Amino acid sequence: MLMVLIRKKKINLSHLSELKKILRETQLNTVCEDALCPNIGECFHRGTAAFLIAGKLCTRKCRFCSIKKGVPLSLDPQEPQRIAETVKKLGLKYAVITSVTRDDLPDGAAGHFVKTMECIVNMAPETKVEVLVPDFMGRKESIDAVIAAKPFVFNHNLETVPRLYPVVRPEADYLRSLGVIETAKKNGLTAKSGLMAGLGENESEVIQVMNDLRNAGCDMLTIGQYLAPSRKHYKVREYVKEEIFDRYKKTAIDLGFKHCASAPYVRSSYMADISHL
Ligand code: SF4
Repeated sequence: MLMVLIRKKKINLSHLSELKKILRETQLNTVCEDALCPNIGECFHRGTAAFLIAGKLCTRKCRFCSIKKGVPLSLDPQEPQRIAETVKKLGLKYAVITSVTRDDLPDGAAGHFVKTMECIVNMAPETKVEVLVPDFMGRKESIDAVIAAKPFVFNHNLETVPRLYPVVRPEADYLRSLGVIETAKKNGLTAKSGLMAGLGENESEVIQVMNDLRNAGCDMLTIGQYLAPSRKHYKVREYVKEEIFDRYKKTAIDLGFKHCASAPYVRSSYMADISHL
């Protein structure tokens, strides 16, 4: 098996355990932990985290994702307030709110996103909020509700190229996801999206996706190396060379993206708090 070392800075673990302790005490979930993010040490050390709302069980079965699948529990009405209190307690200047996909709910948990943003605005008005949303099955009223809450950045990941959707994220729809991003941009928000590399795509497909995103008005892009959470997940097809990530970044900026983070360890919310500067 080809071993590839993704170099990461050494960090002092005390912040990591401190933040984990706070998250446990407040019964909050993070995508950082549930998606086995390689940057968790660095981000927690910097006091940033991506909160995972609406439970830990997802209604979809994306083949690359380590989040558990199953029949979700009902929403916890206190969760938005607990997140706001934790954001305030941690003094976060930038908070990322994401969720599992709740196709079981009439609004896809859009109302829970809105309530979480409202609670954060009330408790920590200085904190900028980025939402990383599911596609809400393309429901206009759900997408409009989240947009109306005016997140600082509206993020929705395309994850991969359209040719691979049937095998990598079978319940998703490429054009539906592009539509979610376009709607956010048309309503004046900063729109962001993310891709994984190494699932079997080729460079021209990635550049085509970049063009589609730019046509949808997308401003920011993240591209990172896919790492299989386990042997049962979709196999890594390629460990993409750093010079290709560099080429993607240059192409993205040439195409007009305001910001592109492209490197093996980049993830949707990685350095999100400084990438808009
Ligand atoms: S919809 Fe999101 S959380 Fe659910 S399996 Fe897919 S990537 Fe994971």
